[in-house]
Amino acid sequence: MKIRKGDKVKVLAGKDKGREATVSRVLPKENRLIVERVNVAKKHFRPTQTVTQGGIIEKDMPIDASNVQIVCSSCGPTRVGYEFGSDGVKKRICRKCGGDL
Ligand SMILES: [Zn+2]
Repeated sequence: MKIRKGDKVKVLAGKDKGREATVSRVLPKENRLIVERVNVAKKHFRPTQTVTQGGIIEKDMPIDASNVQIVCSSCGPTRVGYEFGSDGVKKRICRKCGGDL
């Protein structure tokens, strides 16, 4: 999975298409991720004896990792490339501008 928690991504499909937001959780096994305020499911609750206040709870639902594109801070939505730094550590780079991601 090329995308990590905290990355800024652009949503390419679904009801929140076009939105840019931050990844709050990555689910590598399912190749899915949860993006803040994207694909929000609303659950309605009625007041009960234990919970006196009803209302709506909103929950961010996972979306497929292939439906987002990572956003480079200097040139916008881009593709991820990899490069080995001078210290031998593999790092992620922007394929457009070559900057670190
Ligand atoms: Zn870039």
